[in-house]
This record gives sequence, structure tokens and C-alpha cells, in this order.
Amino acid sequence: MKRILSVLLILMMIMTLAGCSQGSTVEEAKTVESAIQEGTFTGNGEGKNGDIEVEVTIAGGVITEAKVLSSGDTEGISDAAITQVIAAVVANNSTNVEAVSGASLTSYGLLEAIRDALSKAGATEADFTTDMVIALEKATEEADQTYDVVIVGAGGAGLAAAVEASEAGANVVVIEKMPFIGGNTMVSGGGLNVPGSWAQTAVGVDDSIELYFEDTMKGGDNLANPSLVHILADNALNAAVWLKDDLGVGFMEDRLQQFGGHSVARAIIATGNHGTDLIEKLAARAQENGVTIKTEVKANELLIEDGRVVGIVAEAANGEAITFHAAKGVIMATGGFGSNMEMRMQYNPELDDRYMTTDQPGTTGDGIVMAQAVNAELIGMEYIQTYPMCNPVTGIISYVANTRFDGGILVNVEGERFVNEMDRRDVVSRGILAQTSASAYLLWGQEIETKGHMTEVHAQEFATLKDQGLLVEAATLEEAADAMGVNVEALTATVADYNQFVAGQVELEIAKKGALRPIAEGPFYLQRVVPSVHHTMGGLMINEEAQVINQDGEIVEGLFAAGEVTGGIHGSNRLGGNAVTDVIVFGRIAGRNVVK
Ligand code: ADP
Repeated sequence: MKRILSVLLILMMIMTLAGCSQGSTVEEAKTVESAIQEGTFTGNGEGKNGDIEVEVTIAGGVITEAKVLSSGDTEGISDAAITQVIAAVVANNSTNVEAVSGASLTSYGLLEAIRDALSKAGATEADFTTDMVIALEKATEEADQTYDVVIVGAGGAGLAAAVEASEAGANVVVIEKMPFIGGNTMVSGGGLNVPGSWAQTAVGVDDSIELYFEDTMKGGDNLANPSLVHILADNALNAAVWLKDDLGVGFMEDRLQQFGGHSVARAIIATGNHGTDLIEKLAARAQENGVTIKTEVKANELLIEDGRVVGIVAEAANGEAITFHAAKGVIMATGGFGSNMEMRMQYNPELDDRYMTTDQPGTTGDGIVMAQAVNAELIGMEYIQTYPMCNPVTGIISYVANTRFDGGILVNVEGERFVNEMDRRDVVSRGILAQTSASAYLLWGQEIETKGHMTEVHAQEFATLKDQGLLVEAATLEEAADAMGVNVEALTATVADYNQFVAGQVELEIAKKGALRPIAEGPFYLQRVVPSVHHTMGGLMINEEAQVINQDGEIVEGLFAAGEVTGGIHGSNRLGGNAVTDVIVFGRIAGRNVVK
């Protein structure tokens, strides 16, 4: 995910600088010693997902410009942090700047990189450090605001709802508590299941709405609400065509992924194998339609009048209360509660601090708690999914490990396979946790690598994993096993058996479904993985119109919900690629119905 900051972002930074002076003033900055050189210097720091490289310009003894040359941190999320932190550094000529909440690791990594660049210019730490930590500028807000529709949460569901509601003529506000939009949708792999997609047609995969429905029901142990699953299956293709043709979302041309639990390959994958393009295109269309998107505004409470939801009470970043009145209704699109350990354990004590999470920090279950206060019914709260292939240091999802879908195999430190790699996420996760040191190793070679080029598509993550000692690329299997501390002899035997199975010569004790490719040609890759909390299947009970249902089985008037905040669509276990389909399909339904 190496990238150069766009011209647009740099322009935004310049505009921010022109428009405001952040916290303390330039006069307060330390006088720069003559030993400091003028010019442009590069520096490096450690972000959330690897190296951040910056370029800092010093002229007339002050920092005149800083820009990011490359960063592995999630686009969108890190962009917001980068813009704010750089603006504050330049405006105050100081690196003593507070971190952006929710993106603190990116902020610290960025500040470290800027300090590194300054040190190369001959500056000491004190030269560009104000005594006080500089606070990032917070906007002031009207205490009372009225819209037709108030949407809480700017992830995939909230933004899809915003597009539809605005297209139906409503005046819409989306409030987002984090400094950035996108939610878990942004940090997802951008895959959505679509029976009958253009990608299936291109490679001749035979699929149907009914088969997708059945896989989804079965994948959730038949505990999902069949009428909601029918809506998901019936509307998936239409939603995908809308994203591609109407909004202009890009999809990877040659990638059709078969996630675990699906009978056929049916997931189309957004450009770059992440959610950025989805979010950017949804947000762009919403804004074109006049939707207001407010970040760093947190909804706390629903407003009720005569039994009807008529708005929400929120809190701005500066602590001020804002009441958003909703003439037509409120849509809860706050995502799940994977980042809320206390809430996780309240509903499923097994998911304690042994598990990190793949989630964005904003997914703390707020929408569920707010709706509970108006007697909303909850469903399936104990069903919390772990994703089996995550980074053992950070807990974040590994996209390099998508080679599993192209045929990679999982072994334990003893060099043995222990699970069908393409089984459901819960089965694979439990399998991994049962192994020595509660982790596993994913192995693949060139036959698999050249199918999806995952180490290239996710080059930044690949580099980080190697730096962290979590992945090795080696010419031989022996070398790879040795480097990762996996039993060499056993692994060699496992791979020999496996290759015979792929060639149709033997059966395996532990089955293997999905893509079957030999692991014979080097270089080989061996990556250590752990499961991490990923998706909360439970949440608000909704009907087919995305209206929230209360504990007496009645509709809560004026309240709609869509996306991970809802329950009942995935039963006990959500299949891969079903979250994005869910958020787009039900987000659109909520957006249309709230206006009716
Ligand atoms: P979905 O996939 O269902 O759209 P996401 O996780 O993508 O869910 O998005 C949910 C968004 O809602 C996140 O960006 C999260 O920060 C935001 N959010 C959660 N709670 C609140 C709240 N109380 N007020 C405003 N935004 C919230």
C-alpha cells in the first residue's frame, strides 16, 4: 500500500494552514540555532502498519512544509491524522503536537519521522519543541440543528444510507465520532459476495441467489432470520452494479475470491483489496448530493417524543452538546462492538484480553446501547467472530495471508496440518488457538503466489511482516521452516503428502476444499498468524424495511438500523465477504425507507 499523498491532500493542508493557526503561536517557538541547515530532509518513523517516510522543508529557520512520501497505514484513517498533525507542526514550528484520537500510532510515527528529518538538518530535539503540547483545532458547532435524516456512523452502511436518502430528496447529516470516516468498512478487504456478478460470468462460475442464500444460512448454523438473508441474497447483484456503474467503485479485474463456507467463488474485490475506494466513492456521492458529514461528533442518546425517535443528542470534540433533530428519522449505522472488550465479555466471556481485534477503534457498540435505552430488542449478542489470520503483534487482519484462498496451507510449529484451511472462520480460529503457542503458520510457494500476487498487492504489509519477523521468504522449504522455528522434517513430509493429494494420488486425513495448488516451487513463504476478534454478529433486531424492533415486537417509530450494528443476518457466524454486501444492501434500504 505504498503511496504518495495526493496533490489534493497537500492542497487541503495548505488551505488548513491558511485558514487557522493551531493552538499556540509561531512566536512561542524556540529560536533556531544557526547550526540548522536549510533545505529538504527526509525522515522515517514507525506507524501502525510499518514505516512512515516524510520530507520536511526548512527555510528561514522554520519548518515551512512537511509531506508524507510513503506510509503503510490505512488510507483515509491515516490521511486525516496526517493532515491535522502536519498542519499543527508547521503552524507552530514544533513537533510537540497531540496525537489524533483513534489514529495515535500513525500520529506518533509521523512525529517521529519529522523529528528524524529535523535531526538530519542538524537540529536538536529542543530546537523544534514548544513547552506545551499543542492541541489540535476543534470546530465549534450550533447547539441545535435540524435535518430530515440523521445518520449515526460514517462507515459503509451509514454512507450507503446517506446516498439513498439524499437521492430521495432528503436533507441528511452523517455524524461520525472518529476524526476520520470509513469505520470497519474502510479497513476491510473490500470484498463482497455477489451471485451472478460480472466476475463470475467472466470465468464461468455457476452460481445462484438460492445457493448463496443456502450457504449463508448454513454458515450461520441456520440461526439467521431467513427473510433478512433473502433480502441480502436478492439485492447483492443490484448493490454491486450500483457501486460499480453508478458510483464508479473500482474492482480488481482478475480477482474472484472464494471465502470459507461458500460453495463457489463469489466475492468481487474492490481495488487494492481494501475498503478505501468504496468509502471514498460513497462519501463523494453523498457530498455531491449535499449530505453534511461531521467527524468527531459522537452520538450519545436518542431523543424520543410521543414514542417516536425524533433526533439524537451528541457531543462535539470540544465537549459541547449538540442536539440533532430529525424530521423524518434516525439511522443507526454505528458498526459492531469488537473494540469494546467489556461489552464483548458481557455477552461472551470467552473473548477476553487474549484476543486483540482487527477492528477500527470506533466500533464500541454505542448504537446498541443507545437503542437499548428505547427498549430495542437485541439478537445473537453472544455470537462474536474471530478472524483466523491476523498479525500476532498488532491484531490487525493480514491481507497477505489471503494466499490461503489461493491454496496456502496452515501448519503448526510441529509442521503438521490441523484444519481444513477453507473451513469457517470459527473452526479455523479455534483450530489455531488449540495449537502450541496458540498460533499457526501459513505456507505457500510460487504456484499460489503467482495466482493472486498477494505479496505485491499488499507490498507494505509484506515488508512490515518481514521486519517484524512474522513472515519469511526463502529459497527452500527447509530454510523457511528453519527461520520460523517450524519442524523441518515434519513440514517437508506434510508438503510432500499434500502435493500428492493435489495431484489426485492420495487422500488426506484432514480434508482441504477450495483452490488446490501444489507447493513445490520456491521462493516459499511461511507466515505466523493468530485469530483476532473481527465481527460481532449480534445487534439490533430489524425488519425487512430496516426498522428497529422493540422488545414487544413493535416497530420503534423513526428508528432504522443497518450494518454491523444489527443482528439476525449472519446467525452465529458471518461468512467472509458478507459484511460489505450486508452494509451496502441494508444501508440502501434504510436510506430509502427513512424518507418514505
Ligand atoms: P458498518 O460496516 O456497519 O457500516 P463500520 O464499522 O464500517 O460499520 O462503521 C461504523 C462507524 O460508526 C464507525 O466509523 C464508527 O466510528 C462510527 N460510530 C460508532 N459509534 C458512534 C457514535 N456514538 N457516534 C458517531 N459515530 C459512531
